[in-house]
Amino acid sequence: MGSVWGVVKGDCPECGTTIPENTLACPAAGCDYERKFDQEQYGFLVTCAYKPDDVDDEFFERTGYTREDVEEKNVEDWNARRLNNPQSDIQLDAAYLYRARLNGADLVRGSLNGTNLSGASLERAKLTAATLDRATLARAQGRQISASVMFNE
Ligand SMILES: [Zn+2]
Repeated sequence: MGSVWGVVKGDCPECGTTIPENTLACPAAGCDYERKFDQEQYGFLVTCAYKPDDVDDEFFERTGYTREDVEEKNVEDWNARRLNNPQSDIQLDAAYLYRARLNGADLVRGSLNGTNLSGASLERAKLTAATLDRATLARAQGRQISASVMFNE
């Protein structure tokens, strides 16, 4: 499967089987569901959405980003990259984004199924046509989340 990280466990939207953390393919026999998750994209979003003290040393080792990168980069950098790469889909299914600072973030058409956004700040985040099936939004904050969000329950 290749090893990914930053992916939480959750139920398969197609068959309900639990997909373990850091796993993309549903383990159930006969189910071909696979999470859409772009490891490099996740690393960049974490760099933009957290402060250095929020992430552990393992993050820096895995990504090559430095504390300075995490300090300097913010949601504007993420949005600039979205503008420059409109053809690349946001693939962050089951991503661990607990308490991420995503105010104003461009997550348009993002695949965020099963994503953990507990406690995240989502003021003015753009989630148009994003899919958030089984995403965790407990205590997420955002009075002006721009909608057309599809909840496929
Ligand atoms: Zn399944």
